[in-house]
Amino acid sequence: MYAPADRAVLADHLRGVQTIALSSTDAHGLCKWACLDVDQPEALPQLLALGTQLARRGLSGFVEASRRGGHLWLCFATPVPASAARPAVQHALAQIQADGQEVPSLELYPDTARVGALGHAVRLPLGVHQLTGQRYPLFDAEGRPCAFRSLETAMRFVLEGPTVPLNVLHGAGDVLDAPHGVQPSVDRPFTRASLAHGHPDRVGTISPMIRWVDAHVSPLDLLAELAPDAELRRVGRGYLGWCVFHDDRAADATGQPGTPSLYVVQDRRYGWSWRCLSTNCLHHLGPMRHSFRLFQELLGVTCAAALREACAWWPEADPEREADDALACPPGQ
Ligand SMILES: [Zn+2]
Repeated sequence: MYAPADRAVLADHLRGVQTIALSSTDAHGLCKWACLDVDQPEALPQLLALGTQLARRGLSGFVEASRRGGHLWLCFATPVPASAARPAVQHALAQIQADGQEVPSLELYPDTARVGALGHAVRLPLGVHQLTGQRYPLFDAEGRPCAFRSLETAMRFVLEGPTVPLNVLHGAGDVLDAPHGVQPSVDRPFTRASLAHGHPDRVGTISPMIRWVDAHVSPLDLLAELAPDAELRRVGRGYLGWCVFHDDRAADATGQPGTPSLYVVQDRRYGWSWRCLSTNCLHHLGPMRHSFRLFQELLGVTCAAALREACAWWPEADPEREADDALACPPGQ
């Protein structure tokens, strides 16, 4: 039986009342996790070794024992199209093999990238297997089986574990530009009325000066001027550079050097937007930001001060802007 999983269903799964298997993709072809399934007696050591190799390539996950072998789970930082997730994992597996490491025979879920096709489901971790009556153990990064004192600590292990950042996926630009809802919403609510002004999706409660900067100033120019160290380079349809808001060049926990995670993209609907793809960064969470926010953050000043700066920087800006711009700052900026 296929049915959407809600909280009650998940709670029953964790209590062992019933055991559910989840399809990786939703109706839009987006997935939040991938699972590598190996069904053979030596699966666990193989998956633990594979997990180490994948983590070196930015695909960190955790291994779970299963009735016939094991699962290696990879969680994505945000939902991504299965059409991007599958090739990214396959590419990493091919690289590992090319480096002379063994890749066991495995099934990769999502097992379809076709939008609308749910594909096969995988038994969710932490439940009780209905045939064997067992809860199968999870393994920590050192390959030791975890001994959880409670379901809560087990859940925390899964939910607070590493996620695969978007920049690891092949063509991060294409992922973020995907048409079916992956483009994160912008900072603002939308109104239809604003369509008449040639600016789709911008609302009048935001200062006209902010709107002007968002519409006319490219983050690429701002970064070139105020943070040339970002060194943005074209990736897919967007640009990636060193984030100037966190230590992007620092090595990660496995000693691998950092990778550029400041992502800038322009599209017809939202104009210019940006965010940091690193989960270590304040500018990772929430909606995509626009140019004015970048200008303000790079100057390190309040919204009101950034508005005054903007008037000086771009004297050619919209002459209709209101005198009380400073009152129109969005909350919290
Ligand atoms: Zn950052």
